[in-house]
Amino acid sequence: MTPGSTTDGATTESATTGGAMTEAGESVDLEAFRERVRAVLRANLRPGDPNLLSWRNPLSEELTLQVVAREREVQRILYDAGLAGLCVPRAYGGQGLTPAHQRVLNEELAPYEYPMRLQIPTFEPCLGVILEFGTEEQKLRHIPRILTGEEVWVQLLSEPSGGSDLAGALTTAVREGDDWILNGSKIWTTSAVWSDWGLCLARTNWDVPKHRGLTVFMLPLRQPGIEIHPIEMLNGNKEFCQEFLTDVVVPDSCRVGEVDGGWEVCVRWMFHERMLHNSPLVTSPPGAMLGGSAGLTAARDTARAAGRLTDPTARDLVGEAYMLALVKEELDLRVRDGVAAGAMSDQTAAVGRLFSSMVGTRSTDIALELVGVTGAAWADDDGELGAVGTSFLMRQSGSIGGGTVEMARNVVSERVLGMPRELAADRGIAFRDVPRGRPARE
Ligand SMILES: Cc1cc2nc3c(=O)[nH]c(=O)nc-3n(C[C@H](O)[C@H](O)[C@H](O)COP(=O)(O)OP(=O)(O)OC[C@H]3O[C@@H](n4cnc5c(N)ncnc54)[C@H](O)[C@@H]3O)c2cc1C
Repeated sequence: MTPGSTTDGATTESATTGGAMTEAGESVDLEAFRERVRAVLRANLRPGDPNLLSWRNPLSEELTLQVVAREREVQRILYDAGLAGLCVPRAYGGQGLTPAHQRVLNEELAPYEYPMRLQIPTFEPCLGVILEFGTEEQKLRHIPRILTGEEVWVQLLSEPSGGSDLAGALTTAVREGDDWILNGSKIWTTSAVWSDWGLCLARTNWDVPKHRGLTVFMLPLRQPGIEIHPIEMLNGNKEFCQEFLTDVVVPDSCRVGEVDGGWEVCVRWMFHERMLHNSPLVTSPPGAMLGGSAGLTAARDTARAAGRLTDPTARDLVGEAYMLALVKEELDLRVRDGVAAGAMSDQTAAVGRLFSSMVGTRSTDIALELVGVTGAAWADDDGELGAVGTSFLMRQSGSIGGGTVEMARNVVSERVLGMPRELAADRGIAFRDVPRGRPARE
């Protein structure tokens, strides 16, 4: 969702003049808004603590739960001050303001704590998908609770049989009266341990080609039939999970989109996922979501911490990191505006997603080159320098999460550049007849 093409067209922003109108058609005074934001943040929020960022330090489960509880409080503080859901329509508890307002809030948040773990995937892609495909009843039920921090959402997409081929989902939903019964397993679910609801892709029809037999459901995570198992990541964090679904009952009122129409939802779901760094639904200081080593000034700060600010080799590396971050920001803006104006297809979002992960990977390498051996073997009191090593362990995650870079390259070549489609042995065949290995759990 971008300027000029907001959640439901409620707010607009002129790309040429930078002028903005609220959903009520009022023109806005961004400086007055900035003053209000500053006053609220100064009075209510604590300074941000980089040690609580999960990619820098593995947090104990107990501390993670405490941090999440505080983030829910912070979300509530923002909501009570009229600073949550700035670009969400007022009808659903939002503010009906503009992406320019969201940018102001994000900029002012930089020195403060903010509800980091509540943003991705709750606000994007889940809230984005609910706004686009949810029924009126679903939106009224869930969006206000998301904005107050009561509901944190996860994406139940990837399965043990594979995550790249989303349309090959094996988790099955069978209709029984007004309910659906779900069975299967999802995996790599970020933050399921402490979240409340999930958007789940399931197979509802095995007798049609794979893309035509899928349906999306909303399901509460704490209910009989759902087992959630944390998975320890390379850096020691346990925010990833695998879920086992056994005869989980979901009312039809929790269906998102049409029966067997899940792929239509999924295509837009992936668009929201690829654009999330650019989304006005997300509250996050600029650059923060890329991790400690990818911000505009992060490499310089790393070089300073390593005592290498005057070292010519280090200066080259800092320059490279700075250049990459600048190009990434400009590319993101260009894609955002191009898609909003209809000059680029939605699929172009894959270009930004691809470049973003390349920048993340190279920036992490640069940070490691700057700190040298400390990044490979650090002591507890190495602080900033040791955090570079922990970040390096997570270097590949940005190339996999949200769809791999290989899949992004496929989208760019086939959907953006119009090159021939990859050979697919399952095209046009009823999914039941597609040869496959044994399911993860029979
Ligand atoms: C940080 C992080 C967060 C995540 N969060 C979530 C989440 O919240 N919810 C969720 O559902 N999933 C999540 N995932 C899972 C992620 O979406 C999957 O890992 C990803 O889609 C790849 O699926 P896979 O791991 O099963 O690999 P596979 O699909 O098995 O692919 C294996 C390898 O083959 C390559 N490959 C596969 N098909 C092709 C092809 N057609 N052309 C070229 N190469 C191909 C892939 O690029 C990959 O390198 C997360 C992953 C990470 C790292």
